[in-house]
Amino acid sequence: MIIFLRSLHDEAKSQHDKSILKLIFAKPKQTDDVYKSRHVSPRIEEAVLMRSYRFLVLLSAILLYAPVSHGQAAAPTPIFEFHSGFWMNLHHFLYKQAQPISVEPSIAEDLKVNAGPDWDAAVLYYKQKMISRDMLFDDGMSEIKFALEDQESAKTLKPSGQLTSELISVLEKAAPAYRENWWHAHDTANHQWIEAVSLLLNQYGETLVHELSDAYKTDWATNTIRVDVTSYANWSGAYTTIDPTRITISAGDRANYETAALEIVFHEASHGISAKLMNLIAEECAKQKVILPRRDLWHAVLFYTTGEIVRRHFAGYVPYGYKGLWERAWPMYIKRLEQDWLPYVNGKTSFDAAIAVLVHDVGQPIK
Ligand SMILES: [Zn+2]
Repeated sequence: MIIFLRSLHDEAKSQHDKSILKLIFAKPKQTDDVYKSRHVSPRIEEAVLMRSYRFLVLLSAILLYAPVSHGQAAAPTPIFEFHSGFWMNLHHFLYKQAQPISVEPSIAEDLKVNAGPDWDAAVLYYKQKMISRDMLFDDGMSEIKFALEDQESAKTLKPSGQLTSELISVLEKAAPAYRENWWHAHDTANHQWIEAVSLLLNQYGETLVHELSDAYKTDWATNTIRVDVTSYANWSGAYTTIDPTRITISAGDRANYETAALEIVFHEASHGISAKLMNLIAEECAKQKVILPRRDLWHAVLFYTTGEIVRRHFAGYVPYGYKGLWERAWPMYIKRLEQDWLPYVNGKTSFDAAIAVLVHDVGQPIK
């Protein structure tokens, strides 16, 4: 399933969109509840269906932007392209189920399901051969992911690079159990998430593209960015592989809901325009002869910048970083970001000057 998006600049529907958001993001405790929750009250169900119908009409309108002949102007390139692919979801869900329960407590519910010997064998295979490999930093895992993305929901899989015949056999044997027990609920939740974030993108997407390109001093990608929506992504709820920039986001992670969905999708996309920021921080460190207490200062800047830019548009919004991330990952940086970097985000100083001050304030002299 693919949805293409580009802003429609349709102010008239903004109020309507705000109300639908709450409905579509109605709290699911587990993914199976998402589907069931639509059947609790006929009135709510009717409202959701009506609004979904109107949303589908809206999507059709977006798709109709495609030119019908060479004589017409080309359609604008969509910002994102959303997918809910069977194999990507199965692969990530097996990766999740194979984790120790201490790492992923939410698998307790899933483990109650007796999904049969083929499923158990697949989980065991992932335990033994896959979970020691990081979804993001292991190049082979990226290769597997790219191949599964491209094969979407094909009936059978074709080997490609590290998507070996051995792994394909594991996935294909596990597929019937996944289809029977989880796929419908996961796919439904993915679609609901896509619909909800699409409404936000219709209204704010184009503006955020301009503001973020400006902030990172880098042109936005000329191509559409692929986003695969999965029940589970990785420990952090979302990750991005670059060259090409492709995003995986978990629709099962509550941290990725409502306005945060917009921040996460743009945070991930910001990875694709972060090279200038990373290079300049490295150059400044060399120039000032300092080292950083954590080498990934650039990533903290990325979280901070995109979070603040999204916050501009939503009164009272708390960016992702302020929901525990600063304390967990970058307690040494957050105060300096507020002091040295926020003036740049607010247009009070230049990119180069703000980086120079930030590096000066957080860097430690090389002895
Ligand atoms: Zn990131």
